[in-house]
Amino acid sequence: MKASDRRLAELRAEIPEVAPADARALAQQGAILIDVRDADETAQGVADGARVLGRSFLELRIEDAAPDPAQPLLVMCGSGVRSLFAAAGLRQLGYRDVRSVAGGFNAWKDAGLPFHLPKVLDANARLRYARQLNLPEVGEAGQRKLLDARVLLIGAGGLGAPAGLYLAAAGVGTLGIVDHDVVERSNLNRQVIHADGRVGQPKVESAREALLALNPDIRVETHAMHLSPDNVDALFAQYDVIVDGSDNFDAHYLANDTCVRLGLPCVHGSIYRFDAQVSVFWPAAPGGGPCYRCLYAAPPPPELAPSCNEAGVLGVVPGVVGLLEATEALKLVLGIGRPLIGRLLCYDALAMRFRELALRPDPHCVLCGAGHSPSADVKPHEPTHHPA
Ligand SMILES: [Zn+2]
Repeated sequence: MKASDRRLAELRAEIPEVAPADARALAQQGAILIDVRDADETAQGVADGARVLGRSFLELRIEDAAPDPAQPLLVMCGSGVRSLFAAAGLRQLGYRDVRSVAGGFNAWKDAGLPFHLPKVLDANARLRYARQLNLPEVGEAGQRKLLDARVLLIGAGGLGAPAGLYLAAAGVGTLGIVDHDVVERSNLNRQVIHADGRVGQPKVESAREALLALNPDIRVETHAMHLSPDNVDALFAQYDVIVDGSDNFDAHYLANDTCVRLGLPCVHGSIYRFDAQVSVFWPAAPGGGPCYRCLYAAPPPPELAPSCNEAGVLGVVPGVVGLLEATEALKLVLGIGRPLIGRLLCYDALAMRFRELALRPDPHCVLCGAGHSPSADVKPHEPTHHPA
């Protein structure tokens, strides 16, 4: 008897096996059904309700899927052999109730139980996203989330340019861009999504050309218009995440207020000369969070709000900040890491220093505070930084 056959016999004695129909019933009662097959096999179909974890990363990823070792687990492979080995590995990690689905996915299918064909990455996408597919935090499931995501960029300017390029490169499937300006030569020291040959073109068109040249597999939706209270709800409602790269306070407040109303995360970035601020405003986040008005209740008077044109800007500063915003947007889509909710990241480029301030929801916030009504004792803070 070969050693592997001997081990298999031991495993069959040690790991309980369940028929596919029983596995389905247990999964419907709360057991976690885990599919450990490789991507080329799961492309042929995945049992409804199963989580595809892949044998090679199973031990590293299982804790995210099943944080409680008492949680019953059902392991499935193609024919019910590899799942026995995988189940033994999970038991060693401390999971107490691990069973193997007898006959695997083949038996599941033969029993007429429901399955679906997952959206798969084609060979081109596998190459394009190869380096991020290797990250366990992204992987194929994460890449599909990115491809299904809809992210709106407010502004194709100093912040929107780098954010848009990197979100497109990462494979965010649908990128919306709202901007009413045309490309000017004086934009080009920082708005690297545009090009000298496209001076005079609408920014949304110029940006679309650059994004599709980088990644023709995504969809770019252009909105050549001025964001206003009349059009903002209908526009934002089409997206999952809003990346605020706007260059004026009116737009920041409009973006924030609309996101709060629609329950959307608003990734905020603003710069003033060599200083910048980044945060994620999302009161509807699972653990709650502040909004822009919790930080600054009202915009400053116009005379205290110089624009980029007057203040001046070195292109690398919005470049860094746009990429911080893109990072937060990707994390939100992927559901990984710790987003900048309740934290204001302050960047001083001259000192090359990042500081972080804790932000708490303001119970008296005129927008997201209890009762959602203006309160007499709210002192409007004035923003100290002007956006790019
Ligand atoms: Zn608020």
